Amino acid sequence: MSLVLIGVIRRMKSSKCKGQPSATQYGNGCRCALCRDAWRMHSIELRQKERKKSGGTKRDTPVVEHDAFTREQILRARGMM
Ligand SMILES: [Zn+2]
Repeated sequence: MSLVLIGVIRRMKSSKCKGQPSATQYGNGCRCALCRDAWRMHSIELRQKERKKSGGTKRDTPVVEHDAFTREQILRARGMM
């Protein structure tokens, strides 16, 4: 096995999502920067939902669930696009 290959495998270990970062991947144990960002945004969203619930507003408004962010959304959120 070449040294380059070993390096690639090590990098893949630290990013389990393999280029598909999402809050779900973070939950699965991926700790790459993009997954951490996705998770942070996800928890912010959850907090906002909780706040809405306790606010006593309409409860049965349909909410579009995003369980994953696209790479583009994350990059835009980080101000990289
Ligand atoms: Zn990841």
